[in-house]
Amino acid sequence: MAHFRQLYDARSHSYAYLLADADRREAVIVDPTAGQATLYLALLDELRLRLSHVLLTHVHERAAPGADELRHVTRALLVAGRACGLPHVDLIADDGIAVAFGNEVLRCRTTPGHTAGCVSYLWRDQAFTGDALLIGDCGANSADGGDAGLLFDSITRKLLVLPDETLIYPAHDGAGRRVSCIGEQRAANPKLAGTTRDEFIAKHSQSDRQQAA
Ligand code: FE
Repeated sequence: MAHFRQLYDARSHSYAYLLADADRREAVIVDPTAGQATLYLALLDELRLRLSHVLLTHVHERAAPGADELRHVTRALLVAGRACGLPHVDLIADDGIAVAFGNEVLRCRTTPGHTAGCVSYLWRDQAFTGDALLIGDCGANSADGGDAGLLFDSITRKLLVLPDETLIYPAHDGAGRRVSCIGEQRAANPKLAGTTRDEFIAKHSQSDRQQAA
């Protein structure tokens, strides 16, 4: 049996995710939000889970305060993309790298473009896509190595190729939407559906350079 919790921080419109093997009592947290460590630790305690890994889909300005807070009080290993810029990462999330917690396995898929070091994580029928593929949107080019062409390639070649029913869990959603699926985003994401790579790059170069998020 597995545990899955989506943890929403209304102030930052951020989602963190707790995944766990309930039998072996090992858990991972994806993209912990800064200031929420007490909540995460209470949840781990309540479910009687040990935190084995903290996984980051990406970071901005070479800082991950949410991960730092959790790792200050647990022995969790830090997993993040090769180009994330953090000084200490325990496991580099290159393509195909597996992260095991209990009998559960999650796989890394690099999806650069929002930042140079963006990674998506695949677990069961779920994809944690960070700010690369959002619900009805995709991550603006950021100041952390963002590149619209790379983002388009990552989304179209590495995420939209997943089965239609794969659930998409993003890092943010300003409207509080919690989940979508690959089939829905392939058909109806207004930033992507019917858009060529060149059109996508042109649109992002104009609109997103100023609003790096
Ligand atoms: Fe971001």
